[in-house]
Amino acid sequence: MPDAIEREAPIAGSERFLDLDAIVVGGGLGGLYALHRLRKLGLKARAFEAGSGVGGTWFWNRYPGARCDVESLEYSYAFDDDLQQEWHWPERYGTQPEILRYIDHVADRFDLRRDVILNTRVTAAEFDPASNVWTVRTGGGHVARAPFCIMATGNLSTPRVPDFKGLNSFNGKWYHSGLYPRDGVDFSGLRAGVIGTGSSGVQMIPLIARQAKHLHVFQRTANFSLPARNGPMDAEIEATHKAEYTARRAAAYETPFGIAGFPPPVKSALEATPDERDAAYEAKWNEGGSISFLYAYNDLLVNKAANDTASEFVRNKIRSIVRDQNVAELLAPKDHPIGTKRLCLDTNYYETYNRDNVTLVDVRSAPIQEITPAGVKTADADYELDAIVFATGFDAMTGALREIDIRVGNGPTLAEKWEGGPLTYLGLMVSGFPNMFIITGPGSPSVKTQMIVAIEQHMDWIGDCLTAMKARGMKRIEPGAEAERDWVQHVNDVADGTLYPLANSWYMGANIPGKPRVFMPYVGGFAGYKRKCDAVAANNYEGFAMSR
Ligand code: NAP
Repeated sequence: MPDAIEREAPIAGSERFLDLDAIVVGGGLGGLYALHRLRKLGLKARAFEAGSGVGGTWFWNRYPGARCDVESLEYSYAFDDDLQQEWHWPERYGTQPEILRYIDHVADRFDLRRDVILNTRVTAAEFDPASNVWTVRTGGGHVARAPFCIMATGNLSTPRVPDFKGLNSFNGKWYHSGLYPRDGVDFSGLRAGVIGTGSSGVQMIPLIARQAKHLHVFQRTANFSLPARNGPMDAEIEATHKAEYTARRAAAYETPFGIAGFPPPVKSALEATPDERDAAYEAKWNEGGSISFLYAYNDLLVNKAANDTASEFVRNKIRSIVRDQNVAELLAPKDHPIGTKRLCLDTNYYETYNRDNVTLVDVRSAPIQEITPAGVKTADADYELDAIVFATGFDAMTGALREIDIRVGNGPTLAEKWEGGPLTYLGLMVSGFPNMFIITGPGSPSVKTQMIVAIEQHMDWIGDCLTAMKARGMKRIEPGAEAERDWVQHVNDVADGTLYPLANSWYMGANIPGKPRVFMPYVGGFAGYKRKCDAVAANNYEGFAMSR
């Protein structure tokens, strides 16, 4: 990667070997909460983090316009009321610098930094079934041992640059959204290119367009995007939200996506007249945000005819915003129902294509063939560029775990076990891999929820599990193969009852050539999932085997 900000840290001899109660892999929102929770249990733990700072996703994704699509009053930890009362979010949606500032604040406030080993990538984790001990090795030479290993490796943490021929011959500079230079990039006077029009692309394109001499956007698949309607934090909204924080957090646990404040729709889109529907969609469009829009009716994600009404509404919006109707048609998604790929939120995305210095290039009809010293060569033209930003996404949900050599004794690696797609019980553990927990793993609601709610729910469950094991004198836990098989089947069955599998999305692994097409997140809703996890624990950890 160019301009990589990662450096493997040299280690002092005394720090090389670590004997711990738990090893945490990752120093993002998941890893930090894991450390906090483990410390509360009196356990000695350390987290290894590849970045030179904490924050995970929010440390690496520094591209222009990076911002969370979940409103800032929601997208924060709930575990400490003083923290949520005292922190002030300046805008409706948090920017990357603001969210990173918040995470740094949490790390300091709870004194977590002393247990995070930065600049250190975990390369291998091996469990010894005879002693019930995980040995974790890092690129810098650490050897850490502990009975438990907690993978807080993130769902979107393995950036992916497509395997374009000639990339290294490019005379200009190139970047990936998920490994963006710390000091930013000045595109002034440059001929810039952005490849990719997912959430990252739609956020950066309007800002790069304002700076660059010319911007070429290389689009393979048009994505639906809704206006975020971002703005300064409204003091009254903030005060009310804070007064109700505890109740709102509890209510969030009872929703499908971990966010309170959206009454569940009770009506099918097909029960409304066309005029009623348009009025409802218009109101949601003006309100901003994606949950509200997809919650206009109760069947937008399960009934194609219902979804068509919402998809067409947004396509018509695009046609009304973008002046050149050929460009508008290219931007109007027609190959997937709205919401089945991650719905984007933007500020002036479609408007940007009305600028004279922006050109949309359709690389579906004429794919990129190679990167040349001068720029990008597609099947029908050459584009001269000084800088290219790859907003080409991630090896999502399984990439970070598959990159680590995780094995038990002489058995298969986790990557081998997952060759046909990820297998987990509840997205929390994997059969054959004892004492290894995954925070927001595949098969859990994870990316289909407010991620921090999902992280806290997982780590609280893990903490309770470790407490229960200690109380019973148990040293080892792993899911049974049958429980895992049934859960994976359930995850698939639920997805198959929705429109999600109709899209070639990263949820399906479709963005990575050769990756098995398996729907990875659990879309049965957060509330039901949490009830299931709680019931499993209450029922003597049903589906898991514990042993001494
Ligand atoms: P993404 O959604 O996977 O989008 C990648 C884009 O690159 C797609 O348009 C894809 O086209 C294109 N692409 C990939 N390979 C290509 C190739 N060989 N030639 C041409 N185009 C190619 O990645 P992302 O935008 O980084 O977002 C990933 C996820 O991160 C989001 O879905 C979201 O969950 C999260 N995220 C959230 C926010 C937020 O909260 N605002 C912001 C950024 C990211 P195809 O569709 O044809 O594959």
